[in-house]
Amino acid sequence: MNDELLIGVLALQGDVEENIKAATYALAEMNQKGKVISVRYPDEIMKIDGLIIPGGESTVMGLLIAIKDGLLDSINKVLQKRLPIMGTCAGMIVLAKQSYDRVVGNKKQLLLGALDIEIERNSFGRQYDSFESNLEISGIENDFRGIFIRAPSVISAGPQVQILSKFDGKIVAVQQENIIGTSFHPELSGDNRMHKLFIELISKWKKQIINNENFKK
Ligand code: GLN
Repeated sequence: MNDELLIGVLALQGDVEENIKAATYALAEMNQKGKVISVRYPDEIMKIDGLIIPGGESTVMGLLIAIKDGLLDSINKVLQKRLPIMGTCAGMIVLAKQSYDRVVGNKKQLLLGALDIEIERNSFGRQYDSFESNLEISGIENDFRGIFIRAPSVISAGPQVQILSKFDGKIVAVQQENIIGTSFHPELSGDNRMHKLFIELISKWKKQIINNENFKK
């Protein structure tokens, strides 16, 4: 195992390419060796050092995760390894424990339950109510431009969940151990600092794995 990082973007649906670009630029700006690839099969998921679940439509993404052979199992396996995961918008919803929809009411959907949070989907309204705003994010110096598209918010969070950002009194970014969730789309703001924060987590995680392996030898 070496210090090159392999980052996967779950490519079932949503803004996959934008995340590949943002993470690729972030790696380069950090002088960190690595590669960002799209992943959709279990063997690909098992190889990566970090996973991004992009924005899109969480009900559709959940359905695709559930019906693709072995995919849910492989995601659960990497969750057990504490693999760093970042979910943006729909991606954060999929990672949550509970969700309800403010606009269309309750919908059954697959949730991974990895983030101890309850989500309100479409928390700021429908597509028409999409907006941008500057955000203060813990761990990031100076404001970050948040792009909110049919965005969810976090209604409640368990004790292990760190709140990274709030907008208008609503929680819009969280972290629980190696998992980050954002209501907004950091891959669309032309600012890779959120992806860099995530890559730092991956890098720390990988160093620990390498150290443990060397210890066993
Ligand atoms: N409202 C969408 C959902 O509930 C998320 C929107 C997005 O990812 N931009 O899945």
